[in-house]
Amino acid sequence: MTRLRTKAARAGINCGASNAVVAPIEVSSAYAREDPGAPGAFDYARTGAPGRAELARALADLEGASGAVVVSSGMAAIDLVLNLLPNGARIVCAHDCYGGTRRLMDARAAQRSFDLVYADASDLTALEAAIGAQAGLVFLETPSNPRLRITDLEAACALARSAGAISAVDNTVLSPAQQTPLALGADLTVSSITKILNGHSDMVGGSVCAADPAHVEQLAWWANAAGATSGAFDMFLALRGLRTLPLRAKAQSETALILAERLAADPRVARVDYPGLPGHPGHEIAKRQQTGFGCLLSLELKTGLPGARAFVSDLQVFTLAQSLGGAESLAAIPATMTHAAMTPEARAEAGVSDGLVRLSAGLEDAEDLWDDMQTALARAESAR
Ligand code: PLP
Repeated sequence: MTRLRTKAARAGINCGASNAVVAPIEVSSAYAREDPGAPGAFDYARTGAPGRAELARALADLEGASGAVVVSSGMAAIDLVLNLLPNGARIVCAHDCYGGTRRLMDARAAQRSFDLVYADASDLTALEAAIGAQAGLVFLETPSNPRLRITDLEAACALARSAGAISAVDNTVLSPAQQTPLALGADLTVSSITKILNGHSDMVGGSVCAADPAHVEQLAWWANAAGATSGAFDMFLALRGLRTLPLRAKAQSETALILAERLAADPRVARVDYPGLPGHPGHEIAKRQQTGFGCLLSLELKTGLPGARAFVSDLQVFTLAQSLGGAESLAAIPATMTHAAMTPEARAEAGVSDGLVRLSAGLEDAEDLWDDMQTALARAESAR
C-alpha cells in the first residue's frame, strides 16, 4: 500500500479494538493500568491518545517521515521545533513566511537570544550568505504565503546541512499531497492541519514530521512536557478530512490554475503570483519538486489598495476570511488580515503590498468563481 490516494483513504480505518471500520472518537483523558510501574499503550491523554496517534501515523506515512507529533495548532508546531535549539542558536527564516511565524520567531528570538535573520530563500546566494558558516535552524516555507515564492528545497536543505543546521519546511500550502520535503533533504516538515490537510475549516491543529527518530522522540517529549497536544474530536475531524486530501488538492489546484490564467490575461490585473503559470520565476523548480501547484494564488490590481478593498468586499461566492485550503473559496488582504502582525517594513521587504489580494480556491465550480470575480473586478475598476 504505497500510493498517495490509498494511504490517505485508509487513514484511521480498521484500527479500533471494537472492529469499527472508522476509528472511534475516544475522549478518555486517562487509561487504566495493569501495573503501576509500567504504562500500557496509552496512559494519559496529554502524552498520547488513540485518535492523535492514528493521525500522526497517517501524516508520517504521507510525508515519508519516521514519525510525527500532532499538536494543537500550526503555530504550536512551529514553536515545538524551536525547542530543538539551544539558546543563542542562529536561525535563518524565509523572509516571506506566514505573518504569525514571523511574530513567533521575533518574540522567541528576543526571549532566547536567538541570532535570527530573515532571507529571501528563493535566492540561494542570499540564503547561503544568511546561513553563514554555522547555524542551528533553517526555516523555509515553499510556496510562501502569500507571494507564492518557490525555494529550491534540495539545494536549500543541502546548504543548511553543510552549515550544521536542521532544515524545517512549512508544508502547509501544498500538503504532502503535492510536496514531500523530507524526500528532498529536509529534516522536518511542519504543517497547519487547520488548512488543506483537514480541508473543511472546522478544526485547528498542527504537526511536525521528522526524518530522524531521535527528533520525533525529542519533539514528542516537549509536546507532552509543555502540554501542546490536542483533543479527540479534532483528531476525528482531521482524519476524516485527510481521507479526501489528494482529491481535494487536485481539484482545488486545477481551479486555482484556471483562475490564475484568466486573471493574468485580464487588463485590470497588474500581477498574478501562481507557480503554475509558466512566467512565474519558480515555475520550473515547482514542476520538479511539486506534484501540483496548490490552491493558493495572489494578485495585485491596477487600482491598488482601493481596488483591492472593493474587489474582496464585492465577492459573493468567495468568503472574506483569513484562512486557506478549505473546501470553500476564501479571499483575504494579507496586509490587514493574515500578515497584520508583521511591521510595515517587514511586509515591504517580503513584497506584501497593502493592496495584495490572496485567494484560496475551493471546491466550487471554477466558472462560478470566475463569474463572481467579473462583477468584483468591475467594481474594483470604479474604485480608482
Ligand atoms: N503556516 C502557514 C503557512 C500558515 O498559513 C498558517 C496559518 O495561516 C500557519 C502556519 C499557522 O497555522 P495555525 O493557524 O493552525 O496555527
